[in-house]
Amino acid sequence: MKLPWDSKRTSDRKVGGYQRERSANPYHTYRWTQLSIAFRSEPDHCICALCLKEGRYTPAQVVDHIIPWPICGEDGFFDRKNLQALCSRHNIEKGNKDKKAIQEWKRRNANQ
Ligand SMILES: [Zn+2]
Repeated sequence: MKLPWDSKRTSDRKVGGYQRERSANPYHTYRWTQLSIAFRSEPDHCICALCLKEGRYTPAQVVDHIIPWPICGEDGFFDRKNLQALCSRHNIEKGNKDKKAIQEWKRRNANQ
């Protein structure tokens, strides 16, 4: 899948201070809080994006990163193109898939 941003960026270990500062979590930033609130308040994002693909209209409850953190890097984390609104069921399903992808990504990076 071709991404609209540079996907190679996350592998060159230049993702701000987050590589060095392990405790830094972009989810705990004011910037993210503001972005997620604004994103969810938009008419296009009040319905779960994945339910919509299945032809159902379910109220969205969370903002999800299509490419999960930390794979997406800091730019991807705050990039609206990397966000989608999900219901809680889809968020759990997506979260489980993301966990595996993140583990695989970390293993690959550790081996480089
Ligand atoms: Zn859904």
